[in-house]
Amino acid sequence: SKLKSLAEMDSKHYLHPTTIPKKHADQGPKVIFSEGSGIHVKDVSGKRYIDGVSMLWNVNLGHGNKELAEAAQSQMSKLAFSSSFAGYSNEPAVHLAEKLSSLASGSLNSVFYTSGGSEANDTAYKLARFYWQLQDQPRKQKIIALKQAYHGVTIAAGTATHLTGFHKFGGTQFEDVFHATPHVTECEQGDKSHPSYKGCIRDIIESEGADTVAAVILEPVQGSGGVHLPPDGYMESVRDLCDEHNVLMIADEVITGFGRTGKMFGVDNWNVVPDLMCVAKGISSGYTQLGGVLLHDRIRNTIVQHDQMMAHGFTYSGHPASCAVALKNIEIIERDHIVDNVKAMETEMNKGLQYLEEKHHTVTKTRNIGLMGGFELYEDPATNKEFPFDLKAGLEVGEECFKRQLILRALGSADGKNVVAIAPPLIIQKQEVQDMINIMDEAITAFEKKHR
Ligand code: PLP
Repeated sequence: SKLKSLAEMDSKHYLHPTTIPKKHADQGPKVIFSEGSGIHVKDVSGKRYIDGVSMLWNVNLGHGNKELAEAAQSQMSKLAFSSSFAGYSNEPAVHLAEKLSSLASGSLNSVFYTSGGSEANDTAYKLARFYWQLQDQPRKQKIIALKQAYHGVTIAAGTATHLTGFHKFGGTQFEDVFHATPHVTECEQGDKSHPSYKGCIRDIIESEGADTVAAVILEPVQGSGGVHLPPDGYMESVRDLCDEHNVLMIADEVITGFGRTGKMFGVDNWNVVPDLMCVAKGISSGYTQLGGVLLHDRIRNTIVQHDQMMAHGFTYSGHPASCAVALKNIEIIERDHIVDNVKAMETEMNKGLQYLEEKHHTVTKTRNIGLMGGFELYEDPATNKEFPFDLKAGLEVGEECFKRQLILRALGSADGKNVVAIAPPLIIQKQEVQDMINIMDEAITAFEKKHR
């Protein structure tokens, strides 16, 4: 059959990201997708799934959006590619740069384009270091990221990624990256007697010396590390800390950008303006590859005064078709009031998650901001008793959901993948949120039955 031969070819010839190669070679792919519409995707045998995680947190306008496809098609027919090097430019890239500047708060008024999020983060480090070089502070080289962070897989971004599995592969060793304890506001505010003080961002800046630190990078809401929301006041404290010590703040908005959290950008939830802001994924709803770094005016102005070539860039920086899709994507987000829908659905998802937590003994720590949420599975939440590490409870619940044609994602590898992440397309409607919750309800019941 068609499916069998596809699966065979896949297992023989296709080495996949974050997949166990032996298992894949032996068993072939779990599913081969072939089409999608709205929050749904179908596999080659015609089976339909709810895409509860927007694939990789990126298909924000959902699948099968004809307007996005037409934007790509029309730009590709007109001018599929043009260089953005050496003074060349193209229309969609210019329009998008202006649009991004108007969307981002404060003084983020220019953009450097990349093909994705990892490249955006690498670019942000280079920009930060370059900025300090131009300020005659070449020793300011170090980057501080947070524990449980995910910033991508290139050597530099991959080192800032804290999830250990990613370090085992090829040994991502980029010098000068430090990992701080996340999300303890009091420590960043300077409470040295706090038990978590050692290893917080402030402690690292002060012990390494602010004159050696270029930037702090953080996700406004940690995604792949397990959907961790910062506590109240945290983002503001990090902003203040960076100002106090003359360190740049880089916001990795690769997941949180473009409406995911119920604001256009994640940082807008806290009225924090970073110095550099990395975007990708939702910028084009995944229809075409695109990323970028938005620069604060003070960084741009410093760089613009530099009278030599800025030797950095990717072939696909400012790809016309990708930029045309992103422009259309943003146009739809604004025209269809997508961010308002996220706010409305945030309430629905929150109610649904609370219902699951009340009903199911093993479900705890439910959380969501906008349409970025999740819950954790504990053997006994009341006594903080976790499931055995090897059980990978989140994976099991994810499997039970998958059997019921709902795609979710198990995360939190540091703690045995006991987090289930939920991040549906931002166009989701009330009944569809309910459908997801109902499936999770059944899946968790099946899981609990097995482990009673
Ligand atoms: N930063 C964050 C917060 C991400 O979630 C991701 C991808 O999941 C990346 C960076 C890396 O982006 P990409 O996979 O496009 O290189």
